[in-house]
Parts: sequence; C-alpha cells; structure tokens
Amino acid sequence: MNPIKEKTTKLLDLFRVKYAYSAYEEKFTQYIPLEWQEKRWIGACNPHSFILVAECEENKMPDPEKKVVNLQGILPQSILFEAEMDQKELIRQWKSVPTIETDQKTQCPSCEGEGRFDHWGDTYDCQHCEETGEIKTNRKIKIKDPKYTFYIDGKLLTTDKIEKMVTTIDMLQSEKISYMVTNGNKSLALFCLEGEIIVGLARWLPLEDNDVDSEKIIDLSAKCIKMQDLETIEVMRN
Ligand SMILES: [Zn+2]
Repeated sequence: MNPIKEKTTKLLDLFRVKYAYSAYEEKFTQYIPLEWQEKRWIGACNPHSFILVAECEENKMPDPEKKVVNLQGILPQSILFEAEMDQKELIRQWKSVPTIETDQKTQCPSCEGEGRFDHWGDTYDCQHCEETGEIKTNRKIKIKDPKYTFYIDGKLLTTDKIEKMVTTIDMLQSEKISYMVTNGNKSLALFCLEGEIIVGLARWLPLEDNDVDSEKIIDLSAKCIKMQDLETIEVMRN
C-alpha cells in the first residue's frame, strides 16, 4: 500500500466501527466516498463522530456496494468562516483532565449486543445486560473522567469525542486546526486539520439544558480561538 493510502486508512479506521456486532453498528463499518464543498472526500463514521479525508489519486476508494449511511446528508451546506485554534492549548487542556479507572465492557453473550432477542416469534428485553447490549468484564480500563466537558461555540463536547480529535491530531502531527462555523446542523461541531481533514463531532446543545458540573467545563472558545468571539457571532445570527 502506498504511504498516502496507508495514512488515509489509518485515519478512517479511527472513526469507523471496525468489528460490528449488531445490524445497527454494521452500518458504520463502511468507507464512504462523497462530494462536499466542491471537493471529493473519503469519509468514515460511527454514531457520534466522523472524519473526511480529501481524496487524491493515491488514496481513492471504491463506492460501497450499498450506501447505508447518509453522511452527506448531515454535512452543512455552507461554512460561514473558520476560526483558528491553538493546538498546543487544546492538548494542554486535554492532558489536564484526570484519568479514572472503569470497567471494561464487552458484547452481551445472551442477546449478542442487541439488547433484546427473538424467541418463538416474540421479542424479549434482555435481562442479562438490562437491554444495554453490553456486560462488564473483569478487566479495568483507564479513561478520561467523563464528568469533564469541553465547551465551544455555546455547545458541549464530551471527553470521548475530544479524545478522537486528540488522537487524530497526534496521528497527523497536526499544527493547523480551525473550528468551522457553519449555518447548518447545530448539533455538529466541525473542525479542519491541515486544510485536508475534516472532523465532525456530535455535541450537546445548549448549555442550559444539560446537567453538567460547571466546575468541570473546559472552555475552548475562550482560550483557543484567536479570531473572533464565537458567542457574539452566534447572537448576531439569531
Ligand atoms: Zn443482553
């Protein structure tokens, strides 16, 4: 495999569901070539985030046999402007979030991750995993404390999503990051890395509606964006 294709695949694999165990997750195993903003991209996604990598001769991928995720449909029509982000500050803030130990989870063997199962034509809720499709293993894993939340453009981003961004930045050794202000899907936070990678993260909105610990909010908009005050722009638009 050529190095550009290899890098593209590594980036896409970070976001797509690799080994799906339910029909729901199976949707998110594909690579999705698409057109957006008059450019060709290759996308990959999971239920909460996605990545688009600019297509070139070296990294082209075939269209999937059957398109099951409408990634194109959630992309905003237009970008109002991009705001430069301080990459070092983002990483510094990320590192400041404490790590906690939690139970590693695995697919529920009773319902095979579905949360329910069919038996003689009837559907039953799985009692074994309390319909979550997952059960605890005996192993512990370390994750960033999920009580912390990142805040940008009036919206909240959870630590698991920021982690995807940080891993992508790390993989690309990216120095150039911008936050894209769009006039579309408001539950989406869009970032551009090195001008050729787009990362989309689902976010909660707005702040007042969420039960979050205000002590544990890390404000990226105040500290990372150099260009303009995003909140002011948000207000002006409304
Ligand atoms: Zn189960």
